Amino acid sequence: MTVGHDPGRTRRCLVIGGGASGLSAALSLCEEESDGRVEVELLEASERLGGVIETVRLGDYLVERGPDMFITDKPAATELCHRLGIGDQLIGTDPAFRGSLVVRDGRPVPVPESFQLLGTPKIRPVLGSPIFSWRGKLRMACEPLVGRRREATDESVASFVRRRLGREALERLVQPLVGGIYTGDPEHLSLAATLPRFIEMERDHGSLWKGLRATAAGRATATQGARYGLFASLAGGLGQLVDSVTGRLEETCRIRRGARVVAIRRVKEPEGFRVELDTGESIEAGAVVMAVPCAAAAHLAEHLSKDLSDRLSEIASASSVVVSTGYRLDQVEHPLDAYGLVVPYAERRRVLAVSFASRKLAGRAPEGRVLLRTFVGGELQPELVDLDDSEIERLVREELESLLGVRGDPEMVDVVRYPGMMPQYVVGHLERVSEIDRLVAEIPGLALAGNAFRGVGLPDCIASGVEAAASVLSAV
Ligand SMILES: Cc1cc2nc3c(=O)[nH]c(=O)nc-3n(C[C@H](O)[C@H](O)[C@H](O)COP(=O)(O)OP(=O)(O)OC[C@H]3O[C@@H](n4cnc5c(N)ncnc54)[C@H](O)[C@@H]3O)c2cc1C
Repeated sequence: MTVGHDPGRTRRCLVIGGGASGLSAALSLCEEESDGRVEVELLEASERLGGVIETVRLGDYLVERGPDMFITDKPAATELCHRLGIGDQLIGTDPAFRGSLVVRDGRPVPVPESFQLLGTPKIRPVLGSPIFSWRGKLRMACEPLVGRRREATDESVASFVRRRLGREALERLVQPLVGGIYTGDPEHLSLAATLPRFIEMERDHGSLWKGLRATAAGRATATQGARYGLFASLAGGLGQLVDSVTGRLEETCRIRRGARVVAIRRVKEPEGFRVELDTGESIEAGAVVMAVPCAAAAHLAEHLSKDLSDRLSEIASASSVVVSTGYRLDQVEHPLDAYGLVVPYAERRRVLAVSFASRKLAGRAPEGRVLLRTFVGGELQPELVDLDDSEIERLVREELESLLGVRGDPEMVDVVRYPGMMPQYVVGHLERVSEIDRLVAEIPGLALAGNAFRGVGLPDCIASGVEAAASVLSAV
């Protein structure tokens, strides 16, 4: 069956994918075209909207299976919450537990105060830290003396850090911190695509110490008086955001769950697209926003442009597993006086990071309990993702016991897999994305949104949806 449309009166706009990016695109389309000239339809393969955002109540625990907070210095997520009328539900992280831990020789030790992914404005905490040898500290202290890089070509995160701060800073701290965000390998990750502000710091200040000192001063002024700090979430979990957008969309947009798109073809009369579902049904539309993971986008683009499909399939993705466990605090020897723990690859352990979720955000665990979220797999340990759930649970419990002194059975366990869900922005990523933009522009009415292009965080995905909506609206 083909569902057509009357080109003279309304134009149909299809959004494929109901994660953060697709929901944002659909909402923007509905808000921009509230007079009904454009009919918006959201097609989601699963029975649930939100994509990797999923908040569940397990016993008395409020568990975020995927993302649990977002950065606030990119405004798209906080702005969306305010637009939806749930701004009063925004919560910040608990300052009582501010700080992170990193494993050194099997023991958690504090990440030096003020260390921000690739550097710090304060040298003193680094000099006092047990993470680095004296040689490593000396090398880091020499950072302001390192000259600027002359070449303008892209560089890996690892190469940049080795050059400016030395090998120890990379292996002992930057690798687990950056690897934790991208579940990636800094040897491959593009600095320009992941952390461009550090390139600017080198260019403008000649040193990360100086650059970070200047940014720290700016940030302190910007966050003074703010109700939440650099990261925020919602009191009821990020599922609240999905529910609010869905509620808003239900007023104006047709939402179809369990609608898996298998192909998109261009049609001439009227000019537009025919979108085919796995049920055999097809839908005609004047515009399409593809907001699906990159591998799915590459597949769906096959009939539109071979080149586009090929470029999309060049963006690789890593897989991970998130294991949430709930314990009584008296089962845990460690004081858990931080937001979480990251694990350098050099430590040869089987977990990437542990988030002390209920220390970070209020309302995640009942009184006297703690919610720990442990991340396994990623680009550096893909073989662990192939283990079955019970094996993964066992290894996580062994690691929690060894690293944090967690003993006995958890009162809640939840294992969730994210196969190929984290795109890897490898060196040359931005050039590839520019080429993808050029190929998409050759197909009027098509736009892409999602985490594979210009940022994996929720604010980036939400912003990508807004941009995709604006782009297809100009086409219809
Ligand atoms: C475990 C984990 C933790 C994270 N933590 C954070 C965090 O704390 N903070 C942060 O900012 N970011 C975090 N991120 C990143 C961020 O959550 C994601 O980048 C973002 O949510 C991706 O949204 P999306 O809409 O682009 O993709 P997705 O959420 O993957 O949504 C894509 C949707 O498309 C649907 N779909 C796929 N194929 C088809 C098809 N053929 N037809 C129809 N529908 C289809 C899927 O079912 C899915 O619903 C995390 C990511 C993961 C995996």
